Amino acid sequence: MSTIPKIVILGAGYGGILTAQRLQKELNYNEADVTLVNRHDYHYFTTHLHMPAAGTDSIDNTRVSISKLIDEFKIDLVKSNVQEIRLAEKKVVLQDGTLSYDYLVIALGGEPETFGIPGLAEHAMTIRSINSVRFIRQHIEYQFALYKADESRTECLNFVVGGAGFSGIEFVAELADRIPELCKEYDVDPNLVNIYNVEAAPTALPGFDPELVEYAMDVLKKKKVQFKIGVAIKECTADGVLLATGEEIKAATVVWTGGIRGNRLIEAAGFETARGRVKINDFLQAPEHDNVFIIGDNSLMFNEEGRPYPPTAQIAMQQGVVCAQNVVAAIRGKEFKKFVFSNKGTVASLGKGEAVASAFGKKYKGWIAAQLKKVVDMRYLFIIGGIGLVLKKGRFL
Ligand SMILES: Cc1cc2nc3c(=O)[nH]c(=O)nc-3n(C[C@H](O)[C@H](O)[C@H](O)COP(=O)(O)OP(=O)(O)OC[C@H]3O[C@@H](n4cnc5c(N)ncnc54)[C@H](O)[C@@H]3O)c2cc1C
Repeated sequence: MSTIPKIVILGAGYGGILTAQRLQKELNYNEADVTLVNRHDYHYFTTHLHMPAAGTDSIDNTRVSISKLIDEFKIDLVKSNVQEIRLAEKKVVLQDGTLSYDYLVIALGGEPETFGIPGLAEHAMTIRSINSVRFIRQHIEYQFALYKADESRTECLNFVVGGAGFSGIEFVAELADRIPELCKEYDVDPNLVNIYNVEAAPTALPGFDPELVEYAMDVLKKKKVQFKIGVAIKECTADGVLLATGEEIKAATVVWTGGIRGNRLIEAAGFETARGRVKINDFLQAPEHDNVFIIGDNSLMFNEEGRPYPPTAQIAMQQGVVCAQNVVAAIRGKEFKKFVFSNKGTVASLGKGEAVASAFGKKYKGWIAAQLKKVVDMRYLFIIGGIGLVLKKGRFL
């Protein structure tokens, strides 16, 4: 029987792909068996999903085949759905089989959090995957066709985006850019279209520099986005949303971007979680399971002020690198490396040629911030796929 340690990585998103690539680089021949499990055979750029969702970029610019990112002689790619993690047995149950592991890396990403708001789970759409954005894109376009078939259906031209955090703002901006095109194509008066961005917190882009928030809102208001800030969605129905103020917005399209939680499989595995996220140690290990590493949106880590790091691609990628190093260290009986987050800054795109950014201790807005966003995207493509991927998927203009 083989005594080679088995490493199983669950999820090929930002954290999982970086872990797999680093393991592939660091492990010697026959030092470990590595299996990467993902529900699709492609890796998608979650940070870019708002564009195909609104229809301002193609689905193909948002994903890449995993086999182009890893060496399948070194890593076994299993396309399947993870259904259960059995910690006591060191097994993972897939839709079509079972895998046993010595070391497990959980990088399954987050799920939308609806905070128990009635009707959101049933009636709102979420920007989470290629399939979900494909649906949103088709749905939006269909609303224009429906309206043209029956112009009394004005709810078809009302779009509600719940949440004005990063993904909400980025999506609203793309939608605002897309609407004029759709109006032209379907011969609809743009003045009849309403885009509402509803946020329960007292500000849009909570936690971001107030001057940049103001700039972002001004840009979006010029694109005719109507903000309802400090207003909670009380209920979502098949007809639209009911706000805490009592106002009802009739809308055939409600997209929820207002919250994210960890994957439910983690709670089901028996880990103690806070909104599905597990508090991991400095080495990215799960409590009481030294052989289980949890990274990305499923992990919970705190900064020096004791505040949790928000779940971002940036932290997931950095964790992926350290996670691979620590799995190799565990196999070799070497010392582990502490994870220390290095904040490279934050950029929020505001549609074509506009963005706000806070990086290198400075604030940026407008065209320059939009270029920064492209640099961030291209840097990621370069890290995972080299210059070839940058040339294929990068957006240069
Ligand atoms: C619209 C949007 C915009 C964003 N913009 C930014 C940004 O600008 N900057 C930033 O830093 N962060 C951004 N984020 C957050 C960022 O995308 C996440 O924090 C990051 O993707 C987390 O990485 P991860 O590796 O934990 O999970 P993910 O990248 O989500 O990967 C999880 C993987 O696991 C797979 N998977 C899930 N469940 C199963 C299962 N049961 N079986 C098999 N496979 C499964 C998924 O298909 C996916 O491939 C954005 C998020 C969204 C939604």
